[in-house]
Amino acid sequence: MEYQNTLTTCIYCGCGCSMYVETIDGRITGVWPDKTNQISGGRLCIKGWNVTGFVGHPDRLKNPLLRKEGKLVEVTWDEALSQVAEKLSGIKRESGADSIGLMTSAKCTNEENYLMNKFARAVLGTNNIDHCARL
Ligand code: SF4
Repeated sequence: MEYQNTLTTCIYCGCGCSMYVETIDGRITGVWPDKTNQISGGRLCIKGWNVTGFVGHPDRLKNPLLRKEGKLVEVTWDEALSQVAEKLSGIKRESGADSIGLMTSAKCTNEENYLMNKFARAVLGTNNIDHCARL
């Protein structure tokens, strides 16, 4: 049996509480607050305590879905991303870059949000980007 505690950061909001995710043989078996974390002081809110609930959930989407003839079907990431690129290019060509807006998430890392900002401004050419933490 392989037992591990992995230090990580809660993904549910921008507070940045840290925690240990406990695994046995690669399967998540628990979450424990990091008592040395200066933000949370060894506490977690209810979302933090349940942060791993989605990992093995049977309803979890593991592949992109694309609507084809009215039905959602699983497709590869290449196909899904090609579709997104094609649609965004078409919207930009027909209606201009400012007809596109992006909403990013507090569940992303700072680095992911930075990349989304760069994607909006440098690739798409729009300043229309916001973040769910402002809602
Ligand atoms: S434990 Fe709660 S307060 Fe802390 S980062 Fe997660 S969601 Fe935010």
